[in-house]
Amino acid sequence: MRYLSTRGHPDRLRFCDILLEGLAPDGGLYMPEAYPQLDRAALDRLRQVHAKQGYAELAYEILSLYIDDIPAADLRALCHKTYTAAVYGTEAIVPVRPLEPGLYIEALSNGPTLAFKDMAMQLLGNLFEYELARRGQELNILGATSGDTGSAAEYAMRGKKGLRVFMTSPHGRMSPFQQAQMFSLQDPNIHNLAVEGVFDDCQDLVKAVSNDLDFKARYKIGTVNSINWARLLAQVVYYFAGYFQVAPDNQTRVSFTVPSGNFGNVCAGHVARMMGLPIAQLVVATNENDVLDEFFRSGVYRVRGSADTFETSSPSMDISKASNFERFIFDLLGRDAPRVRELFGAGLSQTGRFDLSQDPAFAQAASRYGFASGKSTHADRLATIRAVHAAHGETVDTHTADGIKVGREQRDPAVPMIVLETALPIKFAATIVEALGHEPPCPAKFNGIEDLPRRVTVMPADLAQLKAYIAQHCDA
Ligand SMILES: *Cc1c(COP(=O)(O)O)cnc(C)c1O
Repeated sequence: MRYLSTRGHPDRLRFCDILLEGLAPDGGLYMPEAYPQLDRAALDRLRQVHAKQGYAELAYEILSLYIDDIPAADLRALCHKTYTAAVYGTEAIVPVRPLEPGLYIEALSNGPTLAFKDMAMQLLGNLFEYELARRGQELNILGATSGDTGSAAEYAMRGKKGLRVFMTSPHGRMSPFQQAQMFSLQDPNIHNLAVEGVFDDCQDLVKAVSNDLDFKARYKIGTVNSINWARLLAQVVYYFAGYFQVAPDNQTRVSFTVPSGNFGNVCAGHVARMMGLPIAQLVVATNENDVLDEFFRSGVYRVRGSADTFETSSPSMDISKASNFERFIFDLLGRDAPRVRELFGAGLSQTGRFDLSQDPAFAQAASRYGFASGKSTHADRLATIRAVHAAHGETVDTHTADGIKVGREQRDPAVPMIVLETALPIKFAATIVEALGHEPPCPAKFNGIEDLPRRVTVMPADLAQLKAYIAQHCDA
């Protein structure tokens, strides 16, 4: 398998060449040259693998279709090391439960940080450690987080050889649980940097460091953002695992609703569908930051400025543009790289929008690729959390509530709908208290986490100080 850029760069790279990279050199995103096709017999075999040998082996089978530059035995070992009942608290790893007739919840949030980003990041940590050792290299991961990404990255990279994490976050702005999760880590290779500013300040600092190419090379700076192909690939696996748990055979069609921000999670669903998994619809659920819902309704993609990007009670979906969306548009436009380059390159930076409403391809987003969308607001979120609690005695998190609200609206009664649960409610406790009047349940292993000693450095939003901190903590 070779990978190419959505913007037409001539390189054709193998998996490990793009594993440690972000964007392609032309600013595009990496995509597989072609999607491996699974016919009925292949799906039957994967269903058996999942039933008899479990999630880790299913992950190995799917990943090996896309990775041919890691020996099979090593890749299998990495999958089995990653997806364990000890880490995810259940043998099923991503158990599916019925919520109401025809509507299911797939739990992606039983990993170390209780959000779905663990599903990919845990694998990435092991893949990075493996590949860096093989090359005799080190990597210093620099990131900005408003919560879920940073904690997932830290829990995936803690204690890993050859890796350090420098994670900036806006001082005092993450939820108390998220702060406790990150700042209680005592591993020497994990550095929490609380920046006096907002999330955008953190992102600007990270960009400024990455733009200093000398510094970047000297201190071996890398990232783990959601455009990384390996993260997306890891997420493809749980669409298969969810499907096998709900569909009794490999002909039944099933739909998924996905609480979405950067379009990473649902893009993995698109990949699974392109491989031949019988997915009817892929429903994109957004919050008030409805860039994606607007596109799927109107054909207009319009990125938002920071003044039009809202801070919501499903904060991990607060985006101004959807970083992985280019991957889907590439497929939608028949993999016309020059056209993608025009739309996402100069066009988008000049006008902040593009319009496909008059393009015949736009209608195919729904008809050929199964996409639908909807939006959920703070009021919808509270109402959904209350209704689910009243009817089923269960507490769902705010992002999952957005998914349930939109999934119910969009569902075809004849097709089972799986809503992806992307976080546990304890991470966003304030909104649960607002909805229900009491705290959400806290998994036993996190009891008392808010009282643990903290390891965090507070600093002003100052590039020189950030660089000095990094330099001082790398043995360059
Ligand atoms: C990151 C995140 C999302 C959004 O996922 P994307 O891949 O960015 O679309 C949704 N819910 C939670 C809890 C998240 O952490």
